[in-house]
Amino acid sequence: MRTRILLAALLLLFGSTTTLFSGQAKAKRTLDIYFIDTEGGAATLIVTPAMESILIDAGFVGFEGRDAKRIEKAMQQAGVTAIDHIVASHYHADHYGGIPELARLVPIKHFYDHGKMTSLADDKQFAERYAAYQEAAHGRTTALKPGDTIPLKPLTDGPAIRMVCVSSNREVIGGGKAAANAECSAAITKPEDPSDNARSVGLLLQFGAFEFLNLGDLTWNIAQRLVCPINNLGRIDLYQSAHHGNNTSNDPVLLHSIRPTAAVMNNGPKKGGSVDAIKWIRETSSVKALYQLHRNVDAKPEQNAPAEFIANLEEQPDEAYMIVASVDPAKKAFTITNGRTKVTKSYSLQ
Ligand SMILES: [Zn+2]
Repeated sequence: MRTRILLAALLLLFGSTTTLFSGQAKAKRTLDIYFIDTEGGAATLIVTPAMESILIDAGFVGFEGRDAKRIEKAMQQAGVTAIDHIVASHYHADHYGGIPELARLVPIKHFYDHGKMTSLADDKQFAERYAAYQEAAHGRTTALKPGDTIPLKPLTDGPAIRMVCVSSNREVIGGGKAAANAECSAAITKPEDPSDNARSVGLLLQFGAFEFLNLGDLTWNIAQRLVCPINNLGRIDLYQSAHHGNNTSNDPVLLHSIRPTAAVMNNGPKKGGSVDAIKWIRETSSVKALYQLHRNVDAKPEQNAPAEFIANLEEQPDEAYMIVASVDPAKKAFTITNGRTKVTKSYSLQ
């Protein structure tokens, strides 16, 4: 009997030791960003080296929970079982619609958005969708204001990590002391956008020297205030093309001011991915590569990025491929992998 107890104790000890070591072996140094295909919606999963997870938007509601299932699959690939922080950039069904379905699949700990709303003319189903969102959040949502940060675990062995809100509820971050931005001489304004897109939460993620900008669906005039008359964003390494690559966002003045090294467009086969925005991004001299989640099937081949930079070529592909960016601060570079081709390319940090 005593032998058996000893054996069990030994098994427990070695079992837990093995788990401990395999857990250590899994410890990672990189920060990874998964651009999940939601067929023209938005869902961007960030996993820090401390295995903390931030999800910006959760794709569409409906389609039998398609987008929530795709997010869960990306989480499994990333090795996380819960979402620590979820940000609803704004209250359109292709961004916050998928949150209640995702909350049924995985635990979500903290919810952030641009503030409470009682009605929204943009969406006839707003009342029911917003109620489902609030129910998923148990009514505990935090409104982000420009300048607010999402509290992230500091890394014991790595550079500083910070996620700051740069736009929310039609306000933008200020306080820059730089000289006037010369790019603004070319600035034009567009008719005021009354939709919820203009209230989008925009987030800037800083990890050491790496900077990633995600503006949700922020439209032209308010996005322009981020860089005019003073560039309050500075240069960006990786830019998530705002508003799925529509030409009501992605102002060339913004692009020429933030000078991204690479851009990822979360377009669908027939949603976003405008020929104008693709052209504006590719013509920005700093841009080494534009990746698209989908080929714009209505545009000519030369109006899209080259196929090697497109994750999903067909209108109805068998599988939804992701685009994954990864930042290793020790290498002073970040990589982008096309989930379809599995080809990884490296880009130097600025
Ligand atoms: Zn959208």
